[in-house]
Amino acid sequence: MNILQTDIKFVPGVGPKRASILNKEIEVFTLGDLLRYYPYRYVDRTRMYYIHEIDNSMVYIQLKGRITAFETFGEGRKRRLVAHFTDGTGFIDLIWFQGIKFIENSLKLNQEYIVFGKPSLFNNRWNIAHPDIDPYESEGDRPEGLFAFYNTTENMKRNYLNSKAVQKLIHNAFGMIRERVPESLPPDVIAAAHLMPFHDALENIHFPKSPPLLRDAEFRLKFEELFYIQLNIVRYASDRKAKLKGFVFEKVGKYLNAFYATKLPFELTNAQKRVIREIRRDTASGKQMNRLLQGDVGSGKTLVALMCMLIAIDNGFQACLMAPTEILASQHYETFRSMLDGLGLPVALLTGSTRKKEREKIHQALQSGELPILIGTHALIEDVVQFQNLGFVVIDEQHRFGVAQRASLWSKNDRPPHVLVMTATPIPRTLAMTVYGDLDVSVIDELPPGRKPVQTVHRFDKKRGALFQFIREQIRAGRQAYIVYPLIEESEKMDLKNLEDGFKHIREAFPEFTVCKMHGRMKPTEKEDVMQQFITNKAQIMVSTTVIEVGVNVPNASVMVIESAQRFGLSQLHQLRGRVGRGADQSYCILITPYELSANTRKRMEIMTESNDGFVIAEADLKLRGPGDLEGTQQSGIPFSLKLADLVRDTDILFRAREIAEEVIDKDPALEHPDHLVLKQELSRLSGNRYDWGRIS
Ligand code: ADP
Ligand code: MG
Repeated sequence: MNILQTDIKFVPGVGPKRASILNKEIEVFTLGDLLRYYPYRYVDRTRMYYIHEIDNSMVYIQLKGRITAFETFGEGRKRRLVAHFTDGTGFIDLIWFQGIKFIENSLKLNQEYIVFGKPSLFNNRWNIAHPDIDPYESEGDRPEGLFAFYNTTENMKRNYLNSKAVQKLIHNAFGMIRERVPESLPPDVIAAAHLMPFHDALENIHFPKSPPLLRDAEFRLKFEELFYIQLNIVRYASDRKAKLKGFVFEKVGKYLNAFYATKLPFELTNAQKRVIREIRRDTASGKQMNRLLQGDVGSGKTLVALMCMLIAIDNGFQACLMAPTEILASQHYETFRSMLDGLGLPVALLTGSTRKKEREKIHQALQSGELPILIGTHALIEDVVQFQNLGFVVIDEQHRFGVAQRASLWSKNDRPPHVLVMTATPIPRTLAMTVYGDLDVSVIDELPPGRKPVQTVHRFDKKRGALFQFIREQIRAGRQAYIVYPLIEESEKMDLKNLEDGFKHIREAFPEFTVCKMHGRMKPTEKEDVMQQFITNKAQIMVSTTVIEVGVNVPNASVMVIESAQRFGLSQLHQLRGRVGRGADQSYCILITPYELSANTRKRMEIMTESNDGFVIAEADLKLRGPGDLEGTQQSGIPFSLKLADLVRDTDILFRAREIAEEVIDKDPALEHPDHLVLKQELSRLSGNRYDWGRIS
């Protein structure tokens, strides 16, 4: 048995009672878990301070001196023990609220002690509560260099398991290891990444011999965490590629050619051409395609999707497109209808509000194969919907769809259709590699020519006069405007009131124009009517909630006003802004907030006014919020927990880990080489009995 699997209770100083506390409080069950319980910070203990030099800026100090007297105050639970401590340059109080008896019995007057802790000022006197205190020993025995600190819980502290005690247990654990801690990575990986051996890394993460050695140890342990995530993903992706046969689209046929010759109103951008080539390569390969298409709002993803769907149809298959909202689905439907007009290709729209009769007709036409293209919402994945031969599926704005929903599309055929997932919320690369790492990724990194970047400004909500004047001028010049109010999930009623008030207010402010309003609670047909009013410019101002966030395309709209912009996340703001700037005219986005803002919000507004680039914004969002919080990542999560590595700061390590994981799987797909046994063991240890996170699409 691997020594790391030794039950924690056998580590000297632990025993059954402490073992159960360690189990419960910090999920430490084995010796290995304890060694992987990493410090959260280090303090330099080479330096000794004098009491007279203590000041407010010091986080931790180390003093050498004597206790001159003890005093106790209070009764029962309120009792506290104070030791007066001096080093000859001044006095400081050492205070204990717990474990008083033990301290009283173990500390002696007039003996030299080293005291370590966090100084604070109370009633004009410096004190340290619950300091580390040890008899002064000869130089050699004193803790040296960087000293590790461990997180502990209240319950641990009550049982004398403070940071220092944890450190002692780790020291004892090392004492049990006769030779060296068994390696957790195979030799080829260690060599390729130039890693410190596992044993040395563990020693140096807990008891750093020097700052450079600590850095090497951190690198090794971070690498390992990221490497196993990548190995898991790469292994699964290669597995699936090897197994899943896909339909072969051999030819470009009459529909795509006709579309290209007669319907395509503009030249494709180079990025669009490249992505179409990538998709064609996949769909001709005989393997099933799983591709994530990222492209900023307005970069022309829909057109790419349409053309790929035509290729599927040219090869005798059906194709469908699934959108997250009814508004978006019906917009796509209209776009497809007009783009395909005259080609003799029927298109149908299927949503939750499609009438029963119409629905039945669609079901039949799908089954008989008469209907080649279906556009819809979730309704499209209901069981009753059966295709004759579905070959290509497009999922628009993927972050609104759960993993399970995506997977259920596969069951519509014996062979899974090719799947293209499109998102305008660019997922930062590090996160994409970690969470969606088994999808191939295509990027449209170029906007169609002639687009002017949206000008974005931030205004405080007291100053509406100038803003209204500006909107008025834009509308007089023939443009249209959106005014968006936030949705506060806790109270839908309040939100609607916000929106209603805003609507009333705007109507009064702009009596000469038509103002329409849109929110998620409206019936689909009502939404449809309002949308049509706006599309045809019968209404010049649309007051709305975020229902218009994704996909809505009215090129004539040039002003986007976002009320209470502080309530929105960065990627949502960027999405909303993407509703304008779709035509040839200069467009504007105005972010409105109160004057008082948190630093974080201020930063968000700054990023929005400075950048139009969705990737920059997504990276910034990741940095501000941390990866766990990004939309679309909550459900999928990150496979194994990261203790040391950080997806924002450690991107270089992540990329290297990915490369090496790919090399390993290339050489040894099933991890059968004896050296690679450790990889299998670690993967299974890490995944425990958890869900197989590789299978997310
Ligand atoms: P996305 O779905 O990526 O946000 P769309 O596909 O809706 O973007 O495209 C936005 C607008 O740009 C649409 O009006 C579309 O017709 C237009 N468009 C797409 N590709 C091009 C191109 N190559 N040149 C000019 N306009 C384009
Ligand atoms: Mg779109």
